[in-house]
Amino acid sequence: ADCLVQKLALPTGKIIEVNTGLFINNEFVKSVEGKTFETIDPATEKLICNVAEATAKDIDRAVDAATEAFEKVWQHVDGKERGRLLYKFAELIERDKEELAALESLDSGKAYSIALTQDLVACIDIIRYYAGWADKIHGKVVETGHNKFCYTRHEPIGVVGQIIPWNYPLVMLTVKLGPALACGNTVVLKPAEQTPLSALKAASLIKEAGFPPGVINIVPGFGPIAGTAIARHMKIGKVAFTGSTATGRSILKDAAETNLKKVTLELGGKSPNIIFEDADLDQAIKWAYYGVYANHGQCCTAGSRVYVQDSIYDKFLQKFKECSQSKKIGNPFDPDTFQGPQISKTQFDRIMSFIETGKKEGATCFMGGKRHGDKGYFIEQTIFTDVNEDMKIMQEEIFGPVVAISKFKTDEEAIEKGNMTKYGLAAAVFTKDVARAFKLSSAIKAGTVWVNCYNSVDTNAPFGGYKESGHGRENGKYALEHYTEVKTVQINL
Ligand code: NAD
Repeated sequence: ADCLVQKLALPTGKIIEVNTGLFINNEFVKSVEGKTFETIDPATEKLICNVAEATAKDIDRAVDAATEAFEKVWQHVDGKERGRLLYKFAELIERDKEELAALESLDSGKAYSIALTQDLVACIDIIRYYAGWADKIHGKVVETGHNKFCYTRHEPIGVVGQIIPWNYPLVMLTVKLGPALACGNTVVLKPAEQTPLSALKAASLIKEAGFPPGVINIVPGFGPIAGTAIARHMKIGKVAFTGSTATGRSILKDAAETNLKKVTLELGGKSPNIIFEDADLDQAIKWAYYGVYANHGQCCTAGSRVYVQDSIYDKFLQKFKECSQSKKIGNPFDPDTFQGPQISKTQFDRIMSFIETGKKEGATCFMGGKRHGDKGYFIEQTIFTDVNEDMKIMQEEIFGPVVAISKFKTDEEAIEKGNMTKYGLAAAVFTKDVARAFKLSSAIKAGTVWVNCYNSVDTNAPFGGYKESGHGRENGKYALEHYTEVKTVQINL
């Protein structure tokens, strides 16, 4: 396993060691077929290192390890001990947060200062939150009549598969692992092929925390190979996925065609952000900006359709543009950087082609629209105006720093336009009128509605989508329901 350890040099000169094997049974191993793949620094387009690639045979190995760990060990470990291990894991993430944030930044291009102060803080909070739940998961006594005693047990499902994306690699890893482990499941988790490094570093912390071998297995690899093998595996009882709606559909189909495993999906969005004339304009601009450009627009909740009431439209547009021009795009390790590169050449090309489509559809490219610099996958912050709901750029998830800003007159028009999407992940409303805030929050079909803020996600509050944005909820107590089976025990007295 030592030969799989690689020393990675950060742009700051610091060296970080990462084990680049597959993490199975608490060991780092080569893939059965000896395959590896490259992970690229999106800021420089240069190779960072090669990582072991899981194929179907490796997924079998990981599932076998997780099955044995579940049957022989983990299902007999009580909640208090599961909680203790999760607390220990959180403590180790906190200890190594600078290294983890640096790896995340190197591999994904997100600003190091943001990874450290936002993503890592969230990761620690999430693992601690679910550590607290581990010994509080229990059933109920149910009244079923005289001479009977009936109760329910909330039992773990068994082996759970988890497939995560590249936009928030460590946050996604913790959001997925926390409830699964708290409920007593074992896990086979596949990071996105673009960002395996922070997950592999987390794997060493999992081992150090003392989790028994096989409880958590981390297997980097590609979607159509390793991802499909997880989705179709007969010994996996549930798959939790975050990513695109197209992949979510394929996972659901794979589950249906095989063992009907349970599936939760956290998918894409095209979230409306509705700004009324009575809103605090400076606050609305600050949040709308953060809402769409956070993480370079690579956010499932991105507020990419901004609707502004017509009386304040011109003022909003001007100030929003000024705000966009004031933030730094560039080297993720520069402490002043707000926006780094897009994750990959594929995503870069996809976003640029959406920008071209927007122009062809007749929308006005009011700001940006071009590559930023000549190296790395950087894109200028882009604003489209003169848009209508039929346009592709108003219907498809662009997943880049591109926003469409348009006008509305009445509450009803805002609701109608806001809901003109197949997605339903999030929305926001800016107003000082409480009645209007309540009315809009009820009328918008989305899993989360923010009022006078954006992207405010709390570990304690459920998160998930209406319509084609997904199935089930993550975060909070709600997530636990998706990681247990409820058993009814009926006793004849
Ligand atoms: P994706 O959904 O294909 O990838 C996400 C994860 O799913 C990765 O781990 C990938 O390896 C895996 N995967 C891919 N195909 C699979 C399959 N057939 N079976 C099982 N697992 C599979 O996303 P992408 O191709 O990286 O990005 C494309 C678009 O998806 C983006 O432009 C964006 O619109 C959307 N996206 C959304 C989110 C989100 O958080 N909602 C995250 C990433 C990407």
